[in-house]
Amino acid sequence: MNTRARLYIGGEWTDAADGAEFATSDPATGKPLGTCAEAGQADVDKAVTAARAALRDPAWTSMSPSARARLLWRVADLIEEHEAELAELETRDQGQPLGVAHAVSVTGAAEHFRYFAGWCTKIEGAVSPVSFPDTLHYTRREPVGVCALITPWNFPLMIAAWKLAPALACGNTVILKPAEQTPLTSVRLVELCELAGFPPGVVNLLTGGPAAGRALVAHRGVDKVSFTGSSPVGREIVQQSAGDLKRVTLELGGKAPSIVAADADLDRAVTGNLQGALLNSGQVCAAYTRLFVDRRRADEFTEKLAAAAAGLRLGPGLDPETQIGPLVSLEHLDRVDSYVRTGRDQGADLVTGGHRADRDGYFYAPTVFGGVTDDMTIAREEIFGPVLSVMPYDDPEELAARANDTEYGLAASLWTSDLATAHRLAADIRAGAVFINMLPIPDAAAPWGGFKSSGWGREMGPYAIDAYTEVKGVWVHLGNS
Ligand code: NAD
Repeated sequence: MNTRARLYIGGEWTDAADGAEFATSDPATGKPLGTCAEAGQADVDKAVTAARAALRDPAWTSMSPSARARLLWRVADLIEEHEAELAELETRDQGQPLGVAHAVSVTGAAEHFRYFAGWCTKIEGAVSPVSFPDTLHYTRREPVGVCALITPWNFPLMIAAWKLAPALACGNTVILKPAEQTPLTSVRLVELCELAGFPPGVVNLLTGGPAAGRALVAHRGVDKVSFTGSSPVGREIVQQSAGDLKRVTLELGGKAPSIVAADADLDRAVTGNLQGALLNSGQVCAAYTRLFVDRRRADEFTEKLAAAAAGLRLGPGLDPETQIGPLVSLEHLDRVDSYVRTGRDQGADLVTGGHRADRDGYFYAPTVFGGVTDDMTIAREEIFGPVLSVMPYDDPEELAARANDTEYGLAASLWTSDLATAHRLAADIRAGAVFINMLPIPDAAAPWGGFKSSGWGREMGPYAIDAYTEVKGVWVHLGNS
């Protein structure tokens, strides 16, 4: 396989203006997969001009909501028609096991388009009960304008879909900028959007690295930035977009607590935390990483968790036997390994793993630490890898405060058979999503986003319609004077 991907601007596939390219590789082998055009400032300018022109094109602005819905539905159908190809491409470029690529990435991408296709005909205004006499006031929900959609490398296809679908449902025009490590399924998704028949300039694609992202954020012709990625880059985007007060939504990092109460079904909690922590090799923003376990059951839990983690089969995602694929890059593997070394240096008890796997590619052994305390670096910083920390607790009354003692607030998990405990803790924990006795899986119909440094705003569900529209109030004087 050797792909050569180009930029998509104003309905044309094109090389970068200066001819620059970058390579993407297969993390299971480290070998090159293909090259992509690397967008520079001239390409960003051109894409913004095309997206702005499409905002004035009646082929898009006068398209009926039901015709827009059919376009989005068509993309969902095309994603499903190309499921095998997209799943294999995601596995090759990103590393995730093929089963995850099918069940999460491709299925999720199609579901987001289908869910938001339904919204096209349901974006309503309201009549406001103003107190001025003889006055009608109503609201319209209008597209924000040109939206820059900047995505990370962990679930590139699904995250591109969860931004593209609502942005297009609301009538915006978009410029998608996928992560430089994993651009290939985003390129394919844009080809499918072209096939579905969006007018030229409505969907644009710029492959490239942080420089292309920065140029989009700084561009005066961009009205909104929807960013999913790390919290430090999220902070930079807020500063860079302050000049013209762009609309910004941010889905950022996480450090999810998972509370295992004394009354939890322990085997279910072990399996749930293992899967909740190690999906996509732990490269999940909502991954369960701080496991607060009742001290009376902590030893048994840790022992079972470590045995299960050590028994997982590592391998290339394309091998059907694989349960844990590689990390996305050598650079990221080194980062994960350095966190593990810090954990050992700070006195955490390494129970299993803690080293790079002895094979080609960027594989890291699933790692379980016991006796982790709240102040340790591995309990505070986002590792984004296959590292689980068991943190015993004695006093249930302290739990919410300990779980909330983090800069992040994306997700949390509770394992208990007591409804009162579950609902009390769900209310006390400061996170955008609390999962009770289940895995952290997003759904197009439910809000997704974080408290604190995990982000701004919510995507998915009706919240995404708020995020991709501006509200306009129209005042009409109905009297004669
Ligand atoms: P990253 O922040 O390094 O990069 C994300 C994207 O931003 C890439 O496309 C990159 O090229 C671009 N970029 C980098 N610097 C930029 C800048 N200064 N201005 C504009 N664009 C810039 O993140 P990553 O390493 O690709 O992804 C991992 C991070 O994403 C983790 O922190 C993870 O928690 C987070 N994430 C969050 C969610 C969520 O829903 N909250 C989902 C997935 C991943």
